[in-house]
Amino acid sequence: MSSPSVASASAHRRGLRLRALLRERGGLLVVPLTWAALATGHISTRSLLRGEWIAMAALAAFVAVTARVIRRELAPPARGLEDIPHRQSLEQLSELELGLVLITGAYALIHLTGGAHSFLYPLLYALVSFLAILHRSRGVAITWLAAVVLLELVTGGARAPAHLTFIGFFAAGNSLVLASLVRRLRSDHDRTVRAELERMRREARDFRLVASRQPLAQRSCSREEEEARMAQGAVEGIHEQLRFSLGLLREALELHACVLLWVHPSGESNTRARALSLKFGACERPDQLHRAGATLASPGVLAALLHDAKPLRLQLQPSRPPPYYKQLEPRADNAYARELCAVPVTDDGQLIGILCADRLDGGARFDDACEAQLLTAARHVSRVVRQERALASIERDKYEQEQFYRASELLGEALTLEDVYEKTFAAIAAIASFDLAVITDYDAHVQQHTVLAVHTRSVTAGDDESWRGLAQRLEGLEFDDGIALVAMAIKNRHTMPADAGKFDPDAVVFSPRTRLTRARSLLVLPLLRGDQVLGAITLAASQPRCFHEATREMLRVISHQVAVSLQNARMYSSMEQRATTDGLTGLTNHRAFQERLSTLHDLAERTGQKYSLILTDIDHFKRVNDTYGHPVGDAVLQRVAQVFAGRSRKVDIVARYGGEEFVIVLPDTDGRGAEVFANELREEVAAQIMRGDSGQQFNVTLSMGIAEYPRDGDTRRLLIERADQALYRCKEGGRNRVIRWSSSKHA
Ligand code: GH3
Ligand code: MG
Ligand code: MG
Repeated sequence: MSSPSVASASAHRRGLRLRALLRERGGLLVVPLTWAALATGHISTRSLLRGEWIAMAALAAFVAVTARVIRRELAPPARGLEDIPHRQSLEQLSELELGLVLITGAYALIHLTGGAHSFLYPLLYALVSFLAILHRSRGVAITWLAAVVLLELVTGGARAPAHLTFIGFFAAGNSLVLASLVRRLRSDHDRTVRAELERMRREARDFRLVASRQPLAQRSCSREEEEARMAQGAVEGIHEQLRFSLGLLREALELHACVLLWVHPSGESNTRARALSLKFGACERPDQLHRAGATLASPGVLAALLHDAKPLRLQLQPSRPPPYYKQLEPRADNAYARELCAVPVTDDGQLIGILCADRLDGGARFDDACEAQLLTAARHVSRVVRQERALASIERDKYEQEQFYRASELLGEALTLEDVYEKTFAAIAAIASFDLAVITDYDAHVQQHTVLAVHTRSVTAGDDESWRGLAQRLEGLEFDDGIALVAMAIKNRHTMPADAGKFDPDAVVFSPRTRLTRARSLLVLPLLRGDQVLGAITLAASQPRCFHEATREMLRVISHQVAVSLQNARMYSSMEQRATTDGLTGLTNHRAFQERLSTLHDLAERTGQKYSLILTDIDHFKRVNDTYGHPVGDAVLQRVAQVFAGRSRKVDIVARYGGEEFVIVLPDTDGRGAEVFANELREEVAAQIMRGDSGQQFNVTLSMGIAEYPRDGDTRRLLIERADQALYRCKEGGRNRVIRWSSSKHA
């Protein structure tokens, strides 16, 4: 049993909880009480006028609770609230409470001002419309609606249906209008956000903070375009920073103008020949300056700085203004620079620009401190330029490496020789710009080079035709070891020409007849595989200096991969050759014959095209073996195979069926045509003079059975069977003949 003190403590706790509940959710308690008062008519104009205490008390409690609920709803949400459990349910409860309190309040006001005839009824329509917009959860909205219907039915009397119709109409109309408004606002907002994101991305790209993640194959622009884009980004980055610095400097040093001039690299040591152009200018009167990018007619007073790259401080004569001003005459407003301080901007000891500051007549003179500040700014300028250059080069390296790995991947996938050639050209194109690429094979035994594949990819406008013409002449070209650069690269196992910058267009690259007179850049990469040199890749371009050191290095690595792929493809092709040809005769073997016939048959079935099959057997071949020996028999088989192969078209299948039996399939040929052809073969073989080991001469004859698709059979098996039957008929009929199944007695 609990002691009295425990019981009173728990009662106290219960009291506290009730008070807390009243404080927290007083609205939910007052609402049903007010409903009861409304239903029993205790809240009405009359009761209010009579001063009935229930009406007064209900009204007072209601006003207090409403005020509290509204105050709570308007208060900013407590911090940390987002972490508490059931946050959503609590929010819904508050929402429900607010709605019910407002609805009940509206009904109370209506009943205090005349009930069903109250002038305040429109307030209810407005409130329900407002709540229809406000609601966040469907459950809450349904509860509000139920409350309105209930209150209306209980208090509205005969007018309830009309009121409810109006209320429903207002609520539905309002939410529809609002929903479309919200949709429009949301789509406007989405559009703004997307545009802003795109702008940020563009800026990030300009400053090269993000790399282009698009895979190589999907890139729409070429290497040249990609490089131009990166260079453009770098230039804009420099401009942005420099423009800002110059403006700042002009303000800080109270200058009339602060100008950055660019010294153009002329490649000559004669400083007079170096042109100056105006890069940026910040000026109180910008119209007085030449436009940005303009080349200055002469260095004028800055010639000395161009010569020895030392700071310069001058008081100017009106007749000798700084060269970056357009207007030479002194002006009435005296807006004319009289004091000039110019400092060199250097990069790696090279003069790359001049930073000039000037002040108007009457302005303070430039002192050492000003000059020191300008020198600091000049160092900043050169640092920015270096940084941008480094960034651009990192970006370029990244791009090249990406291309490089992709190229390696591509080469790894190449299985056939054609595939290797194609992938090699694609891989090189991703790394270097060239007009002509040639893959040559080298046969060390006969010291002979053969052009395997040629590719033109004119990057130089207008040069296409001459490169293409050269490519045609190079196709299949064979040339000996000699003075050719390709031969030298192979002999020395080293890239040619040794000096990347120097290529004599008159040099012999392949043969004297195929000189690359248009080329200004050339690179020959030997294809090395261990001790072996398989051949070479030769690249040529009309542009000078196309293959700079970094590119050469990557191409060297690529060339090793090409050598591996080439060897693999050759191995693969020889294995394939061995697996499909007959060792003795070099004809298609039985297995490969079945496969090729199956492909041809499927095609014929689809297209309705006919074909003929000739089955051949050498007559009395056992006798040949017995009389002249097995090796002579082999030689006979080879000779017969030669005759067959020599007379057949590329599309025909000529195979050794087994032993001394051969099969020939002639696509698109009927039995009659096959018969003519078979007789030609038979006669040619019969005319061959065979020789035994001791010079004895003899001849062999053939028996040939023919079946035609689809006339003599619609399956491969049936056709072979019928050709065999016809062949059997030949043997029966005396050998050395050709018989078509359809004209034999089996048909
Ligand atoms: P038939 O006119 O009836 O065809 O008489 P045949 O002597 O040609 O008879 P058959 O077709 O039965 O004999 C085939 C012979 O061919 C038997 C076999 O020794 C010989 N032969 C099969 N394969 C080879 C081969 O690769 N080399 C040589 N030298 N002989 C082979
Ligand atoms: Mg036989
Ligand atoms: Mg035979």
